[in-house]
Amino acid sequence: MKTFYKTSELVKHIKELKAQGKTIGFTPTMGALHNGHFTLVKRTGEENDISVCSVFVNPTQFNAASDLDKYPRTLESDAAGLESIGCDILYAPTEEEIYPNGSDYEVEVDLNDLDKEMEGAHRPGHFEGVVQVVKRLIEVTSCDKLYMGQKDFQQFTIIRQMIKDLNIDTELVVCPIVRDEDGLAQSSRNVRLLPKHRKKASIIHRVLEQAQQWINEGRSPIEITYKAMEYLEIPGFKPEYFDIVDGKTLKKITSSEKVDLIVACTAVWAGDVRLIDNMVLKGTL
Ligand code: AMP
Repeated sequence: MKTFYKTSELVKHIKELKAQGKTIGFTPTMGALHNGHFTLVKRTGEENDISVCSVFVNPTQFNAASDLDKYPRTLESDAAGLESIGCDILYAPTEEEIYPNGSDYEVEVDLNDLDKEMEGAHRPGHFEGVVQVVKRLIEVTSCDKLYMGQKDFQQFTIIRQMIKDLNIDTELVVCPIVRDEDGLAQSSRNVRLLPKHRKKASIIHRVLEQAQQWINEGRSPIEITYKAMEYLEIPGFKPEYFDIVDGKTLKKITSSEKVDLIVACTAVWAGDVRLIDNMVLKGTL
């Protein structure tokens, strides 16, 4: 595996690879890598000549400075893990390498209000930061295919819209959520869970499954949201939202009829760790 810290050196190397006719697959991450990330990177390697993975904790997508400070940084073990699964290129830039002219700019893109709901409503500025960094990373890596996880459902939906709106010549590939045995979606933030919260964190997945059963039984999305919020209110846990949305528009639905893709998305505080998860309740991505 080759590791690049400098953007100019990565760009030069990728140009050479492309001149040889190689296809580039790219997985952007913020590091503290786990199996969820590795699954994406492995698939990137299987479906492309060259797999590139970036590790960059993007400050512009954090709306709370404390969250940014507490974000785990484990570059050495990330690099070892990537090497062991056969990743070809690790790109680990500094902030200056990503934003050489400063990060104080916004990408002009029509997101069709996809950024107004759920995470967008609770984390002001978050998606502006995500769009900014992913656009920059696509430019730097010139990737043919971009790999993202369903774990961040709203994120990939927004990036899909960005790619469409800006006519970017990259195919977005969405990969299923990788979970621990008890159902908790793997996340870099899970290492920060207190043992007493970790033990109970599978409740999130259980409530999502319950929501799916309720949808199948024809119960109303409004009632399901209400019940799910109630179920998630256990000691130490605080649900922020549990929205049942049209998977294409991300708007909350009031009836499951005539909606092809229904997704339940939730954010739950477990102590001071914010966890997000989702499940497709009807249709396919
Ligand atoms: P992050 O480092 O959290 O920004 O995640 C980088 C990429 O990995 C994103 O596209 C995430 O959706 C994806 N990802 C994170 N956790 C998981 C998971 N448990 N299963 C599948 N993909 C994941």
